[in-house]
Amino acid sequence: MEELRDKINNVDAQILDLLSERKKLSIDVIKQKEQGGKPIRDRDRERELLNRLIEHGRKRGLDTHFITKIFYEVIDDSVRTQQLYLHKLGNYSTTEIKQNTIRVAIQGIEGSYSSLATKKFFENTETEIVLVNKERFEDVVKSVENEEADYAVLPVENTTSGGINEVHDLLLDTTLSIIGEEVYQVKHCLVATEEISLGKLTKIYAHYQAAAQCSEFIKTNTNCGIEYFADTAMSGQRIKNEGNPSHAAITSEDAAVQFGLKILRRGIANQEGNFTRFLIAARKPVNVDLRIPAKTSLIMATSHSPGSLFEALSIFKKYNVNMTRLQSRPIMGNPWEEMFYLDFIGNTTDQKIQSLIDELGKHTRFFKILGCYPTIEFERTKLDADIDEIDSITYETDSVTDENEILKKKKPKIKTSYKFAGRDYKTDDTIIKVKNVSIGGDNFVIMAGPCSVESNEQILTCAQAAKENNAHILRGGCFKPRTSPYSFMGLGYEGLKFLVEAGKAYDMPVITEVLSINQVTEVAKHSDILQIGARNMQNFPLLIEVGKTQRPVMLKRGMMSSIDELLNASEYILAQGNRQVILCERGIRTFETATRNTLDLSAIPVLRELTHLPIIVDPSHAVGHRDKVIPLAKAAKVVGAHGIMIEFHPEPEKALSDGDQALYISQFEQLMKDLQKI
Ligand code: PEP
Ligand code: MN
Repeated sequence: MEELRDKINNVDAQILDLLSERKKLSIDVIKQKEQGGKPIRDRDRERELLNRLIEHGRKRGLDTHFITKIFYEVIDDSVRTQQLYLHKLGNYSTTEIKQNTIRVAIQGIEGSYSSLATKKFFENTETEIVLVNKERFEDVVKSVENEEADYAVLPVENTTSGGINEVHDLLLDTTLSIIGEEVYQVKHCLVATEEISLGKLTKIYAHYQAAAQCSEFIKTNTNCGIEYFADTAMSGQRIKNEGNPSHAAITSEDAAVQFGLKILRRGIANQEGNFTRFLIAARKPVNVDLRIPAKTSLIMATSHSPGSLFEALSIFKKYNVNMTRLQSRPIMGNPWEEMFYLDFIGNTTDQKIQSLIDELGKHTRFFKILGCYPTIEFERTKLDADIDEIDSITYETDSVTDENEILKKKKPKIKTSYKFAGRDYKTDDTIIKVKNVSIGGDNFVIMAGPCSVESNEQILTCAQAAKENNAHILRGGCFKPRTSPYSFMGLGYEGLKFLVEAGKAYDMPVITEVLSINQVTEVAKHSDILQIGARNMQNFPLLIEVGKTQRPVMLKRGMMSSIDELLNASEYILAQGNRQVILCERGIRTFETATRNTLDLSAIPVLRELTHLPIIVDPSHAVGHRDKVIPLAKAAKVVGAHGIMIEFHPEPEKALSDGDQALYISQFEQLMKDLQKI
C-alpha cells in the first residue's frame, strides 16, 4: 500500500509540474499574440485541441466526460492567465505591478465571504493583500475614496436573497469606478463550540442575509431565536468568545476552521446553487483590452412617461447587446420613482457600445456609468461533434426545414378551445432552455436513460453511457405508475437523489415523473424537468400544480387521448403561468396488438402546425420491443420531432420495469451514431 501511495503521489506531483509548465507556455503565447494583435480565444484551436485530447485519452481508457471536464478547467485557467496579463499591461505601470502590497477594504473580518471573494479575485495577481476591515458598507466605500485603501470589495447580489440594497444605494453616489467582478459560491454551515443536537440550541447568531438564505432550514430544524449580526465571520467569533454551547452561528466552513468551531450541519441554504456576486471598485477606472470579454454597469432613470423604460431597453435589442442584469431601486425623496441598475456585455471603448450609450442617454433623465471591467462570465467551447457531422452530410433536411417554415406561418383552420398553446397566440417555436440544453426550434434533443432508477450504480452507469454518446438529458423514473399494484414502484426520493447526483456528475439536466400533487414541490426543487405520464395527462389538479412551478414540464399524450385533448391538457399548465411545456407522443391504444401501443407519427406534423410547443417522441413506450424502437426513433427525426426519449439499460434482462423495450447500451450507441446521419 505504502509503495502504491508513493507512486500516486509521484504521479500527482508530475501532473502539477506539467500544469505549471503549460501555464508558462500560455504566457509565452499571449506575448506573441500581444505583438500580433490576435484575439485571445481561438475557438477552432480549442475545439481541435479538445477533440484530439479525447481521442488520445480514450485510447488510454479515460472517458470523454472526464477528459473534457479537466481540460475545460485547464483552458479556463489559461484564458484567465492571458486575460490578466493583457489587463495588467493595459492598466498598470511596471512600478505599480511591482508594488506588491495592496489594501482591500471589505465589510467584515477575515473569514467573511467578502474576505474569501477578495482572495479569489486577487489570487493570480502575485501581490500581498492587506485587508482593511470595516463594519459598514458605507465605510468600505469611503476608505477607498479617501485613499485609506486601494480597492473596495462589495457584495452586490445573491442568487437566493437577491440584490443588496445598501450597496446599490452607495453605488449611486460614489466617485469610485467598478474595475472587476467576482462570483463566490456561498456554502453556509451551522456551527457551534461543540457537538450539540439541534433541538438543544437556544440562539443562532447570523448575518441577516445569511439567515434569509437559510430560512427554511432554520424554520424546520430549530426552534430558537435569531440574533442578527453585521457579518457572518463575526457571528462565529462571537460564539467562540461566549463559549456557550447552546449558541450557534451561520458561517462559512473557512470561518468555522479559523475559529476552531464544530460544524453541526453543512449546506443549509434554501437552494444549493447559492452564489454571491461581488464588485471590485477603485478610484481610477480601468481600460479593458478589446480582446477580453467585458461587462459594463450603469445606473439610469427614465422619464416618467408611458413606454419610456421600454424605449430605453429596446436600444439593447437594436444594437444586439446582451443585458445580464436589470434591478430597480426607489429614488430617495421621489416616492414611486425608480432608478434602474443595468449590466450588459460590452466594452465602453467599442464604437458600437459608445453609440448605444449615446442613444440610451437620450432616453434618460439620470445616467451614470459605474464602470467597464473584464467579465468572469465565461463561455466554454462546445464540442458539438454531432452537429459538425450533420453539416457535412447533405441529406434532404432542407426541404423539411422549409416545410416547417411554411407550417409555422399557416393559421390553424379550426376554432380551438385552447389559447396559449396555439400558433395563433405565438407564431414562433418555443425554445426551452434547461441548463445548457435548448429544446425546440431547430435542435434535436436526446433524452435517455433507464425506465426506473434502480440503484446508485445503475443510474451512474446509464449517465456515463448517455454522456459518452452525446445524449443531452438523463431520464429515470423514481415514482412509477404501474399497472399492477404489486410491481416495482420506484425508489421514490432516494432514487431522485441518485438521479440528480448522476446528472451532476456527468453535467446533464435530468427529467423524472411526478405522479401526485404532493410530490410536485419537492421534485421540482431537484429535477430540471418534470414529467407528467400518459396516465395522468388529464389529471387536471396535477396539471394545475405543475403549472405553478418554474420548471419545464413534459406532458405525455394519454394512451386514449386525441391531439386536441393533449393540447387542452397543456393549456391547463400554460394557463397557470408556466409557459415551458414540452409535448410528448408516446403511442396510443389502437386495435393493433402486435406492438405495445401504436406510435402516432402523424401527430408530429399535425402538432407542429397547431402549436409552437416543442414535441418529443418516445418510441420506447410506444412500441414496447427494443428492436423496433430503433427505426421509430429515426422516423421521429425525419417527421420533424424536436427530439426523442429513449429507454436503455445496462442489463435489460434484469430491469425492474420495461426491460423488453430497453435498448442494450451497444444498441443505444449505434442508434446515436445513425441519428447523426439523418
Ligand atoms: C415513463 O416515461 O416512464 C412512462 C411511464 O411513460 P408513459 O407515461 O408514457 O407510460
Ligand atoms: Mn418505462
